[in-house]
Amino acid sequence: MVIFVLGEKSCGALIYLKNGSELFYLLLHYESGHWDFVKGNIEINETEKETVVRELREETGITDATFVDEFREKIEYYYRRRQGETVHKEVIFYLMETNTKTIELSFEHVGSTWLNYTQAMEKLTFKNAKDLLKKANMFLNKK
Ligand code: ATP
Repeated sequence: MVIFVLGEKSCGALIYLKNGSELFYLLLHYESGHWDFVKGNIEINETEKETVVRELREETGITDATFVDEFREKIEYYYRRRQGETVHKEVIFYLMETNTKTIELSFEHVGSTWLNYTQAMEKLTFKNAKDLLKKANMFLNKK
């Protein structure tokens, strides 16, 4: 038996804002039900960072965010499309700081929220996203 696995690559970012000494992370509620970070598929001829900047603008309206340069992490997972194909997905995540609190949500998501580390760890749906947040939070606290 031959099993075909499709490959997909997206790029995204953990977006945070500072309020005094506390950090708040942006989570989006995806139509399929999960809570996750901003991300989207790479378009032809885009660099990873260009994808992130575009997706961030399209999905949230945020245009002032800046990259925390040394942070770049990959997560991978498999999911099944409605048509039945299995997809292997790779998502590269960056870390970005913004001062924009107000989110202009696109049709792609059904909600958004700013949460502190503990709240965000509870809200995120997937273990790999929680692991990623843990890394980012440790990274920022060491800076
Ligand atoms: P993109 O934001 O990259 O355009 P999408 O909205 O098309 O993506 P995903 O968010 O990757 O799609 O969701 C596709 C499927 O993968 C869904 O069934 C979702 O539950 C599952 N999924 C999403 N994120 C993860 C994850 N971090 N780990 C495991 N499964 C995930």
